[in-house]
Amino acid sequence: LTVVAHGPEQPRFALTFDDGPERGVTDRLLDVLAEHEVNATFFCVGEQVEDEPELAREILARGHEIGSHTQSHLNHHEREPEAVQDFLNGVETMERLLKVSPGFYRPPYGHFTHKVLAAAERMKIIPVFWSAWGLDWFPDDAETIAAHVFEDLMPGSIVLLHDSARYTDKRSDCTPTIEATDLVLHEAERRGLEPVTVGRLLGLP
Ligand SMILES: [Zn+2]
Repeated sequence: LTVVAHGPEQPRFALTFDDGPERGVTDRLLDVLAEHEVNATFFCVGEQVEDEPELAREILARGHEIGSHTQSHLNHHEREPEAVQDFLNGVETMERLLKVSPGFYRPPYGHFTHKVLAAAERMKIIPVFWSAWGLDWFPDDAETIAAHVFEDLMPGSIVLLHDSARYTDKRSDCTPTIEATDLVLHEAERRGLEPVTVGRLLGLP
């Protein structure tokens, strides 16, 4: 018998999803998260929010957190002259369509420029990377994706998964990620780890 203490001392980790929202993926993911009664952080792409504003609002309505993953998911290393505008447009799209200002920003591909970081700092938007991932842009099954996450799942982890395949040419179906999320949440429970949003992990109000 394992007794897991639920309290402020319980070790936490953050679950994050990039590249959405996408109909047929994000909505199913929201149901999985609701089954486990947990909240996550969704790093949404501005053009995806423009395509699915209702779905993006549903993420917030269900108590999750939204961060910005830029407007067009540009690689800011390769497209440096456009990088700051891509970042600013992503924030503006959320403010316009969702009436929220993102507190967090995740650079596509983890590629940032110093000008974008400076803009984020001015706007008090915190850049957030990750410490564990499912490598789920490859066409693997749920067990393989979950196994990648388990390798680095520990107190303080920020787990990266994807709720859209729009920005990869390697896979077309996110169903394995949805199933992997369920596996990760069961394993987290077994390990006594509480899944929270990035904001809660960082102890922000
Ligand atoms: Zn991405």
